[in-house]
Amino acid sequence: MGGGLDSAALGTTYMHEHIFVLTPELLQNYPAGWDEEERLADAITKLRELKALGVDTIVDPTVVGLGRYIPRVQRIHDQVDLNIVVATGLYTYNDIPFRFHHYAPDADSGREDPLIQLFAKDITEGIAGTGVKAGFLKCAIDEPGLTPGVERVMRAVARAHRLTGAPITVHTSVRNEGGKLTQRILREEGVDLSRVVLGHSGDSTDLDYLRALADAGSILGMDRFGLDSILSFDDRVATVAKLCEGGYADRLVLSHDANCYIDWFPNDLLALALPNWNYRHISQDVLPALRARGVSDAQIRLMLVDNPRRYFEHGGAY
Ligand SMILES: [Zn+2]
Repeated sequence: MGGGLDSAALGTTYMHEHIFVLTPELLQNYPAGWDEEERLADAITKLRELKALGVDTIVDPTVVGLGRYIPRVQRIHDQVDLNIVVATGLYTYNDIPFRFHHYAPDADSGREDPLIQLFAKDITEGIAGTGVKAGFLKCAIDEPGLTPGVERVMRAVARAHRLTGAPITVHTSVRNEGGKLTQRILREEGVDLSRVVLGHSGDSTDLDYLRALADAGSILGMDRFGLDSILSFDDRVATVAKLCEGGYADRLVLSHDANCYIDWFPNDLLALALPNWNYRHISQDVLPALRARGVSDAQIRLMLVDNPRRYFEHGGAY
């Protein structure tokens, strides 16, 4: 579990799956509805099902802002024969948490952003005394665009990447072509864009946009299969098939952005509204549909095995 793992051992890898997405401060103060043991047992069942479908590794981008809590993930990992690669970084679409407002970087005095060392230590030393090292960095840019808070986190992520060599995953929104903004900032910070997954690119059917991002070197996260409310199953599958046909299979990764429990929605309604948003959908529905559209087994292997391996295995001090 965590970073420092042998990239050759990753096997079939889903590059963007959460286990729990929670709001810890609310959970501590309003715990009604949360049963820790029940939720752990449920997660273990779901992750065992995923393993039984032939998946060896999930890459979990749950960072601060999404409720990262490694001891809970460790308890699950102990019961499941699955690699879980955990992340460091910070998830915000707007501001930085108040905790960091008065610890801003300052070019005049040479004071660097304290976020950089927090992120880097998660990668090199491990997270909060758990012994688990983060394997990659995560930040977000959504519809508010490049707010001061979003830009600060993204630049800190880039600098921690430069220090450690750990790759980067960015939550982007296709509605404001967030992939392009992300590439601009990361390029300014000297990041090799081939070490960057542009998450949620698969919410777009705009092949010109997607090819431009891939031509600049980045890996496209076709990573929300099952979130059919944002883009339909057919459109998601067709877009991946067209990109494969155009020679882009070495720039794509597949995932669901699913979870075992998320406190953002009533989970009973979620299961009704989004019946395909679960860890099983790619194996059971997406891969057969891709094959029917002419995607080869070699291309599927690139997206599920070789591209994840390449993403994690370049250099790096971790
Ligand atoms: Zn996500």
